[in-house]
Amino acid sequence: PDGSQVRALVIGTGYGGSVAALRLARAGVDVHMIEMGAAWDTPGPDGKIFANTTKPDYRSFWLRTRTKQPLSQFLGFPLDKDVPVHTGILDAEDFAGITVYQGRGVGGGSLVNGGMAVTPLRERFPEILPTVDPAEMYSTYYPRANAGLGVTSVDVNWWENADCYQYARVGRKHAQRSGFPFVFVPNVYDWDYMKQEAAGAVQKSALEGEVIYGNNAGKKSLQKTYLAQAAATGRVSVSPLHRVTSVSPAAAGGYTVVIDQIDTTGATLVTKTVRADRVFFAAGSVGTSKLLTRLRATGALPALSDQIGKGWGDNGNVMCGRANHMWDPTGSLQSSMPTAGIDNWDAGGAFAEVAPLPTGIETYASFYLSITRTPRRAEFSWNPATGKVDLSWDRSWKQTSIDMARSIFDRINSKEGTIYRTDLFGAYKIWGDHLTYHPLGGAVLGRATDNYGRLHGYSGLYAIDGSLIPGNTSVNPFVTITALAERNIERIVAEDF
Ligand code: FAD
Repeated sequence: PDGSQVRALVIGTGYGGSVAALRLARAGVDVHMIEMGAAWDTPGPDGKIFANTTKPDYRSFWLRTRTKQPLSQFLGFPLDKDVPVHTGILDAEDFAGITVYQGRGVGGGSLVNGGMAVTPLRERFPEILPTVDPAEMYSTYYPRANAGLGVTSVDVNWWENADCYQYARVGRKHAQRSGFPFVFVPNVYDWDYMKQEAAGAVQKSALEGEVIYGNNAGKKSLQKTYLAQAAATGRVSVSPLHRVTSVSPAAAGGYTVVIDQIDTTGATLVTKTVRADRVFFAAGSVGTSKLLTRLRATGALPALSDQIGKGWGDNGNVMCGRANHMWDPTGSLQSSMPTAGIDNWDAGGAFAEVAPLPTGIETYASFYLSITRTPRRAEFSWNPATGKVDLSWDRSWKQTSIDMARSIFDRINSKEGTIYRTDLFGAYKIWGDHLTYHPLGGAVLGRATDNYGRLHGYSGLYAIDGSLIPGNTSVNPFVTITALAERNIERIVAEDF
């Protein structure tokens, strides 16, 4: 409520925020979480909480009048359509040179992501977080994060014969025939549930293609893991549809936090002010960076480091599809949860997720989301003329990522005698190079903060999400975001509370 006082306020309920809330609460600290997205705990008129991937509706997009689907076309037909403005689950946030996809709601990105839960290879870790001791990460914090998230591996014997993973087996065959290592990756999906979906015994979710607009069953989102455990402590409360707009030092000590309560069209209902002893920025790489950049530039938090807003990267994301021969069908039934990748990181700078294309029909397409070792980094800056935060990303920078992804797919195409699909991202466009699913950086560990996420310039302010990671994790990022949060919060609880 307006005027209340809280010991610890957490902005955002994604991975970083959920870890912070649980560990603070277990240490006896009362925590209040502020989330601008919806609660996602009530079914819509169709009886389901979340909309299907192939049928986006008012629930699917964050405050847009028209959908902006990552794959905008199929077989030459545009897929986007008008929708009512609503605080939907997936934000396609447009900056000048890139669209950044993010989850909105209690659970953050865990509500919309593919559940691919990858721990980077240890030898690659120094490149990811150069100031963090790999020994403690791999002995303590990665295992703790994997346990907390409920990460498990698919039963390969089942996978080998499951119709819904034919696309992945085709992906393996093509990778291996071109000499690339094909690696299984863990996921947070409940594999026993998926087996029952395949057997027709339960409501289908992954096998109904549900993913980027939410999963109605089977996926262990943060709502079922960290946030459920946090709630069980009795010390954590959450305010959905509340957006933090300002944080500044309070005269009486601690911080004044200004929060807009919004309705489902995004309009402000009421503005509230609370006082918090400590504030954790866990609004995601973009959300935290935008807030801190604006607060620093507009005088609310002028002593923040000049490193705020810097070191932002797209994890080198680039998408593409390949057109297979008629003897290599990828299946009309495709599980929306990926299980594997092609690792050409050391030789070509690319790790490609063998991704589903759950359209419900046979497409003869193989689809991939590549993570690449691009050196490109952008910067957030305050634009007083527009009153917005800009991002200095240049669309042409994706060429480096495309070249790295081609180190895999040019070779596969030449070996298989196949071509790229040109009907997925707009007329004759091969590369999905306009977007990222993996924003990282903007309040980089050891630069904008100390080596544990304490923001320079103010005591009691912390960054604890993807903003800490300088632009790349070599694989999908949420396990690393979670493990780093586990490491940092342990230190913060021990020393600052
Ligand atoms: P987030 O999870 O983004 O959480 C931040 C939260 O803060 C959000 O809920 C947001 O609404 C809220 N917020 C923002 N600003 C404010 C404010 N001012 N006030 C109040 N609340 C605010 N990663 C993987 O590892 N594996 C995958 O398979 C995978 N698939 C993906 C698929 C898609 C479609 C997308 C979009 C992402 C995917 N990711 C995947 C990426 C992963 O989900 C993110 O890296 C992760 O969620 C980031 O965690 P975070 O804690 O930094 O922030």
